[in-house]
Amino acid sequence: MGTANGRKSIFITGAASGMGRETARLFREKGWFIGGYDVNADGLRALEKELGADNCVVRKLDVTDKADYEKALAEFGAATGGKMDILYNNAGIGVGGFFDEQPFEDILRVVRVNFIGVLNGIHSAIGLLKATPGSLCFTTSSSSATYGMPGIAVYSATKHAVKGLTEALSIEFRRYGVRAADTLPGLIDTAILPPGTAERAPKEGMFRLIQPIEVARIVWEAYNSDKLHWYVPEEIGDLDKAAGNNPEQMREQIVQMMAFAEALNVDPKKQ
Ligand code: NAD
Repeated sequence: MGTANGRKSIFITGAASGMGRETARLFREKGWFIGGYDVNADGLRALEKELGADNCVVRKLDVTDKADYEKALAEFGAATGGKMDILYNNAGIGVGGFFDEQPFEDILRVVRVNFIGVLNGIHSAIGLLKATPGSLCFTTSSSSATYGMPGIAVYSATKHAVKGLTEALSIEFRRYGVRAADTLPGLIDTAILPPGTAERAPKEGMFRLIQPIEVARIVWEAYNSDKLHWYVPEEIGDLDKAAGNNPEQMREQIVQMMAFAEALNVDPKKQ
């Protein structure tokens, strides 16, 4: 386990894979000290090897376990001299299917990881963020926080919750000079996607497949900015505006776009 030795530091959940891992790599390249946390122990070992043990503290953490999250933060704080420049709550899971057909335990698990996990992290880390001038509380929301998405209803609801929380905290935390922001990615080429999704992704448009390094670059930009919502790609921001301006029209567009129009007894051609 390394120590920061005066370097800036970032605490990343979901660091063993996808956008969390790319963010760890990018910030290491920028000379930062990395805290990498995940439930995937093998992925963490590989990450530590890549970053170099002196440049990171890497540890298994289930974000749903608040007591263990607090321990992980205490260890991180001991390695950074009580500082944290970025808290990046990024760990997430997705379970697809119609809401009423999903086992209730699966639904609760999505809420625990994607939302309670974020609350655990922010509530426990605020002391470190307050102690660090210019710090940023950053979270991964989703393009599914622009409009409630059928087929991933609860996932989408948790990402709306993250977005709302970020907006509120970006105001509350001004008391401490701590910024809060989030990212709303579209379709990113990571392990979270159901099999076949990457292959079927459109070649262009806002839901084209994007590499996770693009999200890592956004975390970097966000640290150097006061912007609140970071859409990846930027066109997702237009979707957000359209959904806000005319939710009924957005609802019909989504019905027509979605593969399960048939299951909803809707013939898109008759709409
Ligand atoms: P990923 O599966 O590659 O990475 C997610 C990581 O979170 C994994 O390493 C996983 O082990 C970890 N994780 C899961 N549950 C955990 C827990 N309880 N505690 C700690 N770690 C846990 O997928 P990704 O796409 O890089 O996901 C990162 C974030 O991006 C997620 O919040 C996801 O919802 C969000 N997101 C992804 C996309 C996309 O298209 N890939 C789009 C929008 C938002």
